[in-house]
Amino acid sequence: MSIAVVNEIKSLREIVKNYRKEGKTIALVPTMGCLHEGHKSLMQKAHSIADVTIISVFVNPIQFCPGEDYDKYPRTLDADKIVAESAGVDVIFAPSVNEMYPGLQKFSDLTMVVPPYELTDIMCGKSRVGHFDGVETVVSKLFNIVQPDFACFGMKDIQQLFLIKKMVRDLNFPVEIIPCPLVREESGLALSSRNKYLSDSDKQIALSISKAIFAIRDLYRAGVTDTKKLFDAGLTNLHKNVELEYLEFVDENTFKPVDVVKSNTICAIAARVGNVRLIDNIVLEV
Ligand code: AMP
Repeated sequence: MSIAVVNEIKSLREIVKNYRKEGKTIALVPTMGCLHEGHKSLMQKAHSIADVTIISVFVNPIQFCPGEDYDKYPRTLDADKIVAESAGVDVIFAPSVNEMYPGLQKFSDLTMVVPPYELTDIMCGKSRVGHFDGVETVVSKLFNIVQPDFACFGMKDIQQLFLIKKMVRDLNFPVEIIPCPLVREESGLALSSRNKYLSDSDKQIALSISKAIFAIRDLYRAGVTDTKKLFDAGLTNLHKNVELEYLEFVDENTFKPVDVVKSNTICAIAARVGNVRLIDNIVLEV
């Protein structure tokens, strides 16, 4: 059966109802499209654990801050269909903005799901104020629309994954969150839809971001646990044209910054190359 593209919530609910009648389990992969091998690994994981794989392709306006790249974010549904089909996806849910937020004039009119301030006043949430409110709200809506048994999220967006897991616990969503490993280019660069914005020379500069975190990993493996020393090692590896937003070491369970690294501490970075904001991270293990 070829892949179905569904634009309306009502139609998707019908399809889901029929799958349920047949006793099938469902895995959901929320995405903003412009699918690459990182997304594909999530879809393949979903396909391996559930009878039916549904992905959403929706560039969610309420998770973009003023001045961010909402308007120019790449929208490539035809190409996405091919990637999704090759990963065993059954249904693509690609709603319009009006379908998801009918008649929405301003974000403040909307009922939102808001994560705790102290977990968003760090890392990506600190510079992208309100971003995770938009993410949790759209993911809640997708969970209510699809009612999946599983939902796959990438460790590329490590703070997002942490907050979604917490939201599911706090609000009792009946879904199991499946974390999926971060996928890189052979060069080391973390795959991202935003890599499309990078020129060849910017890409070379961006490579120093993964180099920095690999240098930190290697130093940690060599026995250095002081985050100040590890931070400095990261910094010296960053290309001079990379504008650092943050380089943080946080506890895997609390996302609180740590001074001393132990196994499973997360080292996360956000930085700009030109106008392009990139993120990367690594879970530090010996
Ligand atoms: P996005 O389309 O950027 O919203 O991402 C959709 C999902 O794909 C999120 O769960 C991301 O964490 C995940 N994802 C994006 N890039 C990667 C990657 N390089 N490796 C693993 N997962 C990824």
